[in-house]
Amino acid sequence: MIKRMNQSLAYMDRAKQVMPGGVTANIKYFEPHPIVMKKGHGAYLTDVDDNEYVDYLLSYGSLMLGHGHPVIKHAIQSQLDTSGTWLFGTPHELEADFGEKLKQYFPSMELLRYTNSGTEATLLALRLAATYTGKHKIAKFEGHYHGGYDQVLLSVDPDVNEAGPAEEPLSVPASKGVGAYHQDHTVILPFNHSYAFELLKHHRDEIGVVVLEPIQSGFIPAQKVFMEELRRLTKDLGIVLLFDEVKTGFRIGMGGAQGYYGIEPDLTALGKVIGAGFPMGVVGGKREILMESAPVKNNATNLSSKGVLFHSGTYNGHPMILAAGLATIQVLENEFDFVVMQTNELKQQLERLFATKGIAMQAIGIGAMFNIVFTEEKVTNYREYQIADFRLRKDLDAHLLKEGIYAKPCNRYSLSTQHGEKEIEKTVTAVTGFLNQM
Ligand code: PMP
Repeated sequence: MIKRMNQSLAYMDRAKQVMPGGVTANIKYFEPHPIVMKKGHGAYLTDVDDNEYVDYLLSYGSLMLGHGHPVIKHAIQSQLDTSGTWLFGTPHELEADFGEKLKQYFPSMELLRYTNSGTEATLLALRLAATYTGKHKIAKFEGHYHGGYDQVLLSVDPDVNEAGPAEEPLSVPASKGVGAYHQDHTVILPFNHSYAFELLKHHRDEIGVVVLEPIQSGFIPAQKVFMEELRRLTKDLGIVLLFDEVKTGFRIGMGGAQGYYGIEPDLTALGKVIGAGFPMGVVGGKREILMESAPVKNNATNLSSKGVLFHSGTYNGHPMILAAGLATIQVLENEFDFVVMQTNELKQQLERLFATKGIAMQAIGIGAMFNIVFTEEKVTNYREYQIADFRLRKDLDAHLLKEGIYAKPCNRYSLSTQHGEKEIEKTVTAVTGFLNQM
């Protein structure tokens, strides 16, 4: 039970004098006020008022081993001890070590490049696709998020009343400052809807790439037949298929969504879990597409860099992060199934609790993340999700926060190797309390 919030409130007042809204990313803000954390351990976060929470946000799903895992600490320390520095600014062996490990689980990645975030990963992937196909429009799905830049900040969470027809959604800026050029160059497709294929056929000569979250927002899966047709058609039309697996990589399965569906995309973007909680992304895929960025062609160095796609970054392939990420994957090789088992257990218990009260609730998701959705209707895309009861969800979230269960309001739940029976029991007790007071 949370007793005090004084320190959090005092900090937010101070932070507002330093940063707009007191936060350094808009997602960190929520009503009535963000909770300010000072410590993390295992499955738990402690705030500045010394309240303890079971953490289901896990930094938006990044911390698959929870907080402060000793194996990660050791990996970072021993990398530092061995190399004596934390950054080379040159090639180093971990770049290939980590890449080989990734290729083991993502065989579609014939070659790959490191970036500093999921945003940078999709950005590079889009440039690779445009270079490879010579076509500069992109297609993305309504309700899908791919990072914070203009090309993809369209129709992420539009007001459905202003978003046009469900089968042919309008391209709606998701931020102020996104200009008409990007609106015009990004075609919006309806997810899990066959009209998406008609739109792709119609724009086949302009669209170089289709990007999607195979599991929308980390919890609404693409239907298998939809995925299969999307793969077949994009191949036919000469459109690159890009899976944005920033959320799903090493969280819905060790091989991500592509492993789950048994479908090979041309390009994949990864982030979150692979960086162990540090900033990192990866773009991988077909050799001939990735080779667009190679500085060496036909054994001759392209010193002028003309005819080569630009990709750079001071921190790409950061040794400390690769060491931490590699250690994460190695732990997950033994413990991934446990996290999924715990997630399924929690989902089932929650669904049972709401069912006994006659409340339509679905715990939707695959692998080690899910979301709580209040509707009895099937939810297969953004528009259908908007029909859910968000008032009830907000009440639930507010109650859970007071009971020491940390999930950002309306956000999905992610579990880690540190979420065991005790944490699930605490969560179930808190939800039972909510239902009893309704
Ligand atoms: N794509 C997806 C599917 C994501 O979930 C996110 C982050 N939520 C991104 C891209 C952007 O990643 P980052 O925040 O690391 O830039």
